[in-house]
Amino acid sequence: MIRRKHNKNQEILGNRSKKPAPKKPSRSKIVQKLDTVFSLYIRTKHAKNGVCTCCTCGRKFEIKKIQAGHFQSRKHYSTRWDELNVHPQCPKCNVFSQGEQYEYAKFLDRTYGEGTADSLVEKAREIEKFSTYELEALIEHYQQELKRLSR
Ligand SMILES: [Zn+2]
Repeated sequence: MIRRKHNKNQEILGNRSKKPAPKKPSRSKIVQKLDTVFSLYIRTKHAKNGVCTCCTCGRKFEIKKIQAGHFQSRKHYSTRWDELNVHPQCPKCNVFSQGEQYEYAKFLDRTYGEGTADSLVEKAREIEKFSTYELEALIEHYQQELKRLSR
């Protein structure tokens, strides 16, 4: 806690000079926190004995060395935390090959059925706005899911 010296101004300003209420975390911080917990959840959910398979090249990596790759870009909020849209993906595919979208689409249709990739493309076009409360609820949800998976 920061103690401020009592001074004349404080007397003049009265209550207004009292220290402000603790600042709420900014929205971008909350989004960042959700991204982090969601990424770990996705990798944990798909891991077998701590090892994940890249969804587009099939190579295997430890959880810590693989990323959570989005089929539809993270800029689309409607699919940003959609479990169908996010899978373990190696840095080479995710970053250097721009997500290997064609391979990703084939993987999705092969795994979840024909038309999955198309429906995610559709969903990504929808505008979805999450309230701060909803974002916090998602963080809570995925923290619980992670606990459940690590039991
Ligand atoms: Zn890969």
